[in-house]
Amino acid sequence: NNIVVAIDGYSSCGKSTLAKALAKKLHFIYVDSGAMYRAVTLYFLRNNVDLQNETQVAQVLENIHLNFHSRDYESHITLNDEEVSEEIRLMPVSENVSAVSAIHSVRVEMVKQQQRMGKSKNIVMDGRDIGTVVFPHAQVKLFMTADPKIRAERRYKELLPKNPDISLEDVFENLAHRDYQDTTRKESPLTRADDAIILDNTDLTPDEQLQFALDRIKP
Ligand code: C5P
Repeated sequence: NNIVVAIDGYSSCGKSTLAKALAKKLHFIYVDSGAMYRAVTLYFLRNNVDLQNETQVAQVLENIHLNFHSRDYESHITLNDEEVSEEIRLMPVSENVSAVSAIHSVRVEMVKQQQRMGKSKNIVMDGRDIGTVVFPHAQVKLFMTADPKIRAERRYKELLPKNPDISLEDVFENLAHRDYQDTTRKESPLTRADDAIILDNTDLTPDEQLQFALDRIKP
C-alpha cells in the first residue's frame, strides 16, 4: 500500500518547507493543498464570483482545472493551464482565501481531488484538514505550530523581495486573521487529529524538523 504523510497546522508554520524536504528525502510526491484553495480564490477574484451565491460558486467550480507540476520538489500549480504559483502568494489572494475555503462546495471538490492524488502514490500533503478529513487514515500525521511573532517574521522575509510595500504588521494581521477564520469555520475547521504528533518548530532548524519527522516515519 502507498504511504501518506499528512502535515497540518496554522498559517506560515513551516509546513511546506518540511513537507518539501521530506518528499525529497523519501522520494515521495509533495502536494500543497493550500495552493489549490489559493488558485480557486484567484479565479473567483478575477471573475468577480459572488461568494454568497452557492449556485454560482458550484457552477464556476466546473470551469476550474488545477494541475501540479513538480520541478526539484518545488511545487508549481497551473490554473486552466496558466502558471499561477507566484500570483497566488500575493496579498489579494491571501486576504480572501480563508473565506473561499469556508465554502462547502469548494471543500467538497478540493478534498475529492486531493484524495485522488493520494490513492496510488506515496505523498506528503500539507494543509489544514489533511489528517482529519482528507486522509483520516494517513500513516503519519504531524501538527505544526510556532510562535506567532516568529511565523510573521519568517513570512515577511519571504514576501519582502517581491512585495517591497508590505509591512510586518500587515503580515502578522493576515496570519492572525486566517488562523481565526480557519479554526472557527463551520466546515472542517483546523484542529489537530487525535493521532497527530505535535511539532512546535519555534526553536528548531529545518534540518532538526526533518530529522524529527523522519524518526517518526521510519518503521
Ligand atoms: O497553506 P496556505 O497558508 O497556503 O493555505 C491558504 C489558505 O487555504 C488557508 O489559510 C486556509 O484558509 C485554506 N486551506 C484550507 N484547507 C487546506 C489548505 C488550505 O482550508 N487543506
